[in-house]
Amino acid sequence: MPPTHPRHPFQTNDPSLQPIAEKVLAGNRLNFDDGVALYSSSDILAIGWLANYVREKLHGDTAYFNVNRHINPTNVCVASCRLCAFGRKKDAPGSYTMALEEAWQTAATGYSEAVTEFHIVGGLHPDLPFEYFLDLIRGLKQRFPQVHIKAFTMVEVAYLAKRAKLSILDTLVAMRDAGVDSLPGGGAEIFSDRVRHIICDHKIDGDEWLQTAATAHKLGLKSNATMLYGHVEADEDRVDHLLRLRAVQDETGGFQTFIPLAFHPDHTVLEHIPRTTGMMDIQQIAISRLLLDNFPHIKAYWQMMTPKIAQIALRFGADDIDGTVVEEKIYHDAGATTPQGMRRSDLVRLITEAGRVPFERDTLYRAVTRSEDTFTVAV
Ligand code: SF4
Repeated sequence: MPPTHPRHPFQTNDPSLQPIAEKVLAGNRLNFDDGVALYSSSDILAIGWLANYVREKLHGDTAYFNVNRHINPTNVCVASCRLCAFGRKKDAPGSYTMALEEAWQTAATGYSEAVTEFHIVGGLHPDLPFEYFLDLIRGLKQRFPQVHIKAFTMVEVAYLAKRAKLSILDTLVAMRDAGVDSLPGGGAEIFSDRVRHIICDHKIDGDEWLQTAATAHKLGLKSNATMLYGHVEADEDRVDHLLRLRAVQDETGGFQTFIPLAFHPDHTVLEHIPRTTGMMDIQQIAISRLLLDNFPHIKAYWQMMTPKIAQIALRFGADDIDGTVVEEKIYHDAGATTPQGMRRSDLVRLITEAGRVPFERDTLYRAVTRSEDTFTVAV
């Protein structure tokens, strides 16, 4: 898909970027040292040029978005991740668990625009049985058969498997049979044991996260992948994280989109850590695009990086800005100041003003055609 505008030639004052540029232009894979060199460079325009080159080679000027709704059935969680402002103990102020009817009603409320995706994630509840989650999905499928259900992070899958005394495979099969169509990418954080021990030592480790994702992919369930950055990790930890994802993708091809997530420290135990800057957010998008050469999509999640930075990211390697969302809890509990949702027309405007061509996709990146408040998906 060729870009529609001419490019100026690659240029940099940073000699460490020259050999990396040669590899990128030749279509060769970058290695660990290249990743560290990219993080060490302050020539963001040169790195952005390379990421944009790869992005346009894959997608031309197309920028994807979707019309989705987030549903967080419970914020009750047995884990106490230091990175988290969302999870609560069962009797703590602000804790909630939706009755099934309430969750189905939540799905139906929001903007009048017909959503094509429900994005469902929540806490690790100590008492809710596996059946609650299967019934939740079955009920949604019954009421909204046309909507794609993207539900349960690898962390939730592993936790529910443990509680139901099932293997990861059997848990995923039950979820798929109930109506789960794909999985989101959350809970990956940073795979490094050292960092995980500091920010989320109650969660499954990096290898378990990757194995759960690989099992889902082998069952035919696509997933996304994320990385939480901007806390106590080093550049080497980020490169390690990206290359471990790339290795699984070589094996399964099941990841659709990589979403770098900036750490929001407000109301977490790590509140003393400053928020990420726009420069760091843009750098993360660009380096992800360059290292993850086998991931089709890199998403600039507007809720997390603000609509303004997400718009700029569309010129630094990102080809997707996520969706309407409608109601976001996880980042807003951690102090996000972005709106909780956006209208379809706002997303179209953001993309168009970034000089890209908006493309409404469903979860599997198929074209969505709308008329009034209904939609059809090109299959
Ligand atoms: S990050 Fe997830 S697993 Fe950890 S405390 Fe928060 S909700 Fe629970």
